[in-house]
Amino acid sequence: MEKKNLEWGSLGFDYMPTDKRYVSNFKDGKWDGGQMVSDPDVVINECAGILQYCQEVFEGLKAYTTADGSIVTFRPDMNADRMYDSAQRLEMPPFPKEQFLEAVDMVVKENAAWVPPFGSGASLYIRPYMFASGPVIGVKPAKEYQFRMFCTPVGPYFKGGAKPISICVSDFDRAAPRGTGHIKAGLNYAMSLHAHEVAHANGFAENMFLDPATRTYVEETGGANFLFVTKDGELVTPKSDSILPSITRRSLVYVAENYLGLKATQRPVKFTELKDFAECGLCGTAAVISPVGRVVGKDEIINFPAGMDEMGPVTKKLYETLTGIQSGKIEAPEGWIRRIL
Ligand SMILES: *Cc1c(COP(=O)(O)O)cnc(C)c1O
Repeated sequence: MEKKNLEWGSLGFDYMPTDKRYVSNFKDGKWDGGQMVSDPDVVINECAGILQYCQEVFEGLKAYTTADGSIVTFRPDMNADRMYDSAQRLEMPPFPKEQFLEAVDMVVKENAAWVPPFGSGASLYIRPYMFASGPVIGVKPAKEYQFRMFCTPVGPYFKGGAKPISICVSDFDRAAPRGTGHIKAGLNYAMSLHAHEVAHANGFAENMFLDPATRTYVEETGGANFLFVTKDGELVTPKSDSILPSITRRSLVYVAENYLGLKATQRPVKFTELKDFAECGLCGTAAVISPVGRVVGKDEIINFPAGMDEMGPVTKKLYETLTGIQSGKIEAPEGWIRRIL
């Protein structure tokens, strides 16, 4: 198979249509078997539920080439599970998990020429999503849905090393208590775009959102979970019902406990505790971990001891171990790597 002639190392995180995408439709109470198509455009009725009442959920995962030349994905079963849960919360018919995994395999196989080579730092980003395609005008769940999965090559997240970022505490809230913060739905992003633009205009890379009920506990950013390291080297991750359960974060907690022998605790984290932590990072599929050097709040600035020049030592170990597992350099726990080609 001939690879596409792209400058893999200088790709950004932008959409580029690839050769094939997967489509399955839900009609008359069931999902069809799905098929690969070439057309990147979606044609739906003007009154489709997604356009009127925002019934949509999505996922994000990567395929990449390992040192031995295999093409693999990382824990796609977790994406299938999470999308299943997200769909149920929005009264959408969940997409069968086995069919989800088959779709991942097909999308990667049929776009193998777009999977960046080993060592380029780039990867193939896969975007599964489903939306209400049937018409609704009275407020209710639609009767018809479409599930799609496309992929696009994306560049290395950090070009020239992971530099710690500076983030601010947002004046806005991301998710309501007992709301939809724990599901991966476009609606959570629509309402955080304004906060995102305000943070960027003020020179910050991201927002730290606090719990909306009391604004005293740390939740997450618009698209990544937090992790903190105490001065004793313990990993602490915030616990809240309105945080999206990041697969990267759950994998890092496992790595901390089972590969690095660290203590890991998930508990509510007060904003006032931040000054006591040694390291802070953001975790998600895109970057694995982005180190955070500084958090700017209303009345105070927290500078983590790890500084603004490089990742803290524990964050770095976590990062290197998980990326080592992903690339096949370190043995993975059973079931974490799905080999496709
Ligand atoms: C997708 C997402 C994350 C990161 O989850 P991963 O599974 O690690 O990619 C974190 N927060 C939000 C709000 C998200 O949508």
